[in-house]
Amino acid sequence: MHEYDYNLLITGQLSTNKFRYPDEKRDIICSTTLLSGHGLQVLIDPGWRETLLMDALKEAAVEPDDIHIVYVTHLHPDHYRNIRRFPNARWLVPEQELTNWKERVPAVDEDIFEQFVPIEAAEIAPGLQIVQTPGHTLGHTSVLFRQAGSGQRVLIAADAVLAREYYAHGEVHPISENQELAKQTIEEVKRLAPDLIIPGHDEPFAG
Ligand SMILES: [Zn+2]
Repeated sequence: MHEYDYNLLITGQLSTNKFRYPDEKRDIICSTTLLSGHGLQVLIDPGWRETLLMDALKEAAVEPDDIHIVYVTHLHPDHYRNIRRFPNARWLVPEQELTNWKERVPAVDEDIFEQFVPIEAAEIAPGLQIVQTPGHTLGHTSVLFRQAGSGQRVLIAADAVLAREYYAHGEVHPISENQELAKQTIEEVKRLAPDLIIPGHDEPFAG
């Protein structure tokens, strides 16, 4: 059984969470998770605020060059732009997502898209399962793994689950590429019933 330790390097937040901070305008930050196990260090969604990530890595005593794989759940800049800091890692992106964005690569990120490696496989590494969670973007994915020791099933949902209240209310982001599909995906995640959910823009909560 391949299990992994995880370290939530950055806890995400929404610019506005209509349930909790409806009148605020915060910097939009995605959750960044480091997975370790079986000789691998895998970073899920490096985010886009450099200082935040570099400080968190330092705190975790991890050098950027220690990271073997960076996996990006979907191609929104707030989830991938820090990837430039990991030139020696493999930059994996779901193949469907890469195909869907081919014609609309932001000019400032062309260098990044040139280095993305499409992944079709069902796993990033043994025991790191890619779960299709479309709707927010059409090729959006989440990552499911078992936590070392506890054996708990942890879902790094990314933007399939924005925040705790959005999950509870079956609410999706208004700019989702397909809102109906995104709502169905929340129901799929509920059926999957992970022990812990790491949402895209909130603290983890029990699934
Ligand atoms: Zn997104």
